[in-house]
Amino acid sequence: MIVGRAAGLTDTGRRRRQNEDAFVCDPPLFAIADGMGGAQAGELASRLAATAIEEAGAAVADGEGVVGAVRAANARIFERSLTDPAVAGMGTTATVALVDEQSGTMTLAHVGDSRAYRYRDGELEQLTTDHSLVAELVRTGRLTEAEAAVHPHRSVITRALGTEADVEVDTRTLDLAAGDVVLLCSDGLSAMVRDDEIARLLEGAGGDPYLAAETLVQAANAAGGDDNVTVVLFEVVEGSPRPQPPPPDELAAERVGPDDVTSEAVLDDVRRHGAGKGSRWPALLFVLAILAAAAIVLWWSFLR
Ligand code: CA
Repeated sequence: MIVGRAAGLTDTGRRRRQNEDAFVCDPPLFAIADGMGGAQAGELASRLAATAIEEAGAAVADGEGVVGAVRAANARIFERSLTDPAVAGMGTTATVALVDEQSGTMTLAHVGDSRAYRYRDGELEQLTTDHSLVAELVRTGRLTEAEAAVHPHRSVITRALGTEADVEVDTRTLDLAAGDVVLLCSDGLSAMVRDDEIARLLEGAGGDPYLAAETLVQAANAAGGDDNVTVVLFEVVEGSPRPQPPPPDELAAERVGPDDVTSEAVLDDVRRHGAGKGSRWPALLFVLAILAAAAIVLWWSFLR
């Protein structure tokens, strides 16, 4: 199986003036970040997270790598918040999905309440556990799902990226199958649109991630659009895995390339044998041959 079509879409919503969400849609790497800490700080935190994850993602190959990418993002945001008082205390959620097409698996890493869902055979399954106050109250039986959905503090998260020097990252690896659609979203979708409605809209989009992204964002706005809404979707299809990027060592060798190896060899030759000596000899012989020929012609004409 491989990742087929993929789409990412973000919208400010109908109540906020700024969009503090950011996303990565760079198959086979996908991520959502939902910033907090006041307008500019939230925006900066989520952008820093998305950029750090995207950069680290280029070298990421496994589950440990994904967690490392999230930790690196955490460090980058935390360091920035220490040096810039205007954005002190900023933070963001981060939900990352990396698909391994060779093994047909997906690794998720997440902090906060941005979610990952898998839509399979008409069923929508939430793959992540929210790190939020209400989710913890539901888990301990002190709140029902219905109460949590309308709780005034439902957007309070209990874990964030960038607020501490280190962060605990939840991670899991699961199988993917052709026909699956994976959805990552910020709470601007999941708090506004119920899971059964999300499933109905995904069904209606018929597996088209672009159409699904648009209808989901529209649905969040139609329900009030209280928050920034961001969705990243991709479909899983039959196919041969695309070639994986070579490991860093091979990359370095590739960058040198056969031509460069040749010129390097020539340079070595010059270094070993003295500058240009090897290539000057044939020219000198050629000139001597011309002079000799000219001398013979002259000598011949004198004789006559
Ligand atoms: Ca949000």
